[in-house]
Amino acid sequence: MAFLQSSEPAQATVINTGSELLLGRTLNTHGQFLANALWPLGIEVARQVTLPDGDSIKTELLRALEDSDVVILTGGLGPTTDDMTRDMVASVLDVPLELDVAVEATIRDYLESRGYLFAPHQSRQAMVPRGGEVMPNPLGTAPGLFFGPDVLAEFECRALAVLPGPPRELHPMVHEELAGRLIAALDGGHADSIRAVDFRLVGVGESTVTELLEPSLASIEGLKFGYCARISEVDVRCVGSDEVIDRARRKVVEFFGDQLIGEKGESLVGVVLDGLRERRQTLATAESCTGGSLAGALTDVGGSSDVFVGGYVTYSNAAKVRDLAVEEAALAMHGAVSEEVCAQMVAGCQSKTGADYVLACTGIAGPSGGTTEKPVGTVFIGLGLPDGRIKIEKCHFRGDRCAFKQRVIWSALDRVRQAMK
Ligand code: ATP
Repeated sequence: MAFLQSSEPAQATVINTGSELLLGRTLNTHGQFLANALWPLGIEVARQVTLPDGDSIKTELLRALEDSDVVILTGGLGPTTDDMTRDMVASVLDVPLELDVAVEATIRDYLESRGYLFAPHQSRQAMVPRGGEVMPNPLGTAPGLFFGPDVLAEFECRALAVLPGPPRELHPMVHEELAGRLIAALDGGHADSIRAVDFRLVGVGESTVTELLEPSLASIEGLKFGYCARISEVDVRCVGSDEVIDRARRKVVEFFGDQLIGEKGESLVGVVLDGLRERRQTLATAESCTGGSLAGALTDVGGSSDVFVGGYVTYSNAAKVRDLAVEEAALAMHGAVSEEVCAQMVAGCQSKTGADYVLACTGIAGPSGGTTEKPVGTVFIGLGLPDGRIKIEKCHFRGDRCAFKQRVIWSALDRVRQAMK
């Protein structure tokens, strides 16, 4: 398969091995991680297979080498006799397994520096199928292996990577060792001629994006595109040459310029925090229905203390009165989920913290507590602005408690982003 000048992403098969994955003892997270990591390299995961330890791995590996551009095989690189991945790869490629003394010395040092004895069976991990490149594993004993086009000449496949099972070892190896090798293996120029970009949109649903954008994107010759929707976010994934990506970008901006937050994996929280930092402004929160998750999302990002002052979690009416000076009369007359109470939550938080921006939310996450007038999913989101003005918006979000909370958080943060424009 030719990659140069091709507008199609390379096709990958991911084979995850390990009986524990099929017994339900370990959640297979490699599929998602690898799909995300490979996409920006112009490689699309076309098939993912999870197999128990055993001979079916050989059958699937052979099949994948024959019909995929890239094959990623994970797990089974340990020192025990059931860790058979190396042997199977050697057998399928029909090459001998050879001891790599440098790898053996590295494993010995790794173990001895941690107070363990190097046992003879550890040498298994230093056996390399002939032609394989060793990808160092500073976080464990089993190195990864890479096979490029030369070794794979008789197969359709251009790159085979064999990676250790533990995620903490696999993740850095993919970024630091594998990505560069993959780009080089896919005819060297592939990464230059074809780019993969995720245009990230917030505050708009996948169906709206598809409806408005699809006809325009479909008319761009040489563009391959798709969507990846999460709660409150849609990535429009585009693959093509620089010129094709530029044309796609113009269309995305034309329809969704206001919702576009970036194309390099930016997060909404990160964009809001960076925007505040640039303006030397601060943010504080007054939460009811999100129970502190909004403050949690902000503080999940390192360095947020520069701009995030703090937050109140006022779940009960009493807490709203005590901490934010919400009037009991307002609660009695309008209820906790109301424009009036939300506005008082913002005002209370403004006066207590002095933050430039204040976000407040009060709503009904469900499953119970809804009324005809205020059904489950109703929420008031309040924004306090640097000039002291307060804006309140009534929204309605679908989903279970968890999805509801996330939608409220994203919607609230997006208000700050929009206000900073
Ligand atoms: P080790 O040297 O630890 O034996 P290994 O390369 O042989 O490494 P496995 O034995 O297959 O890898 O897996 C080691 C551990 O890594 C598993 O117990 C599991 O916790 C984790 N792991 C393996 N595969 C996956 C996966 N697909 N998703 C998440 N975790 C995984």
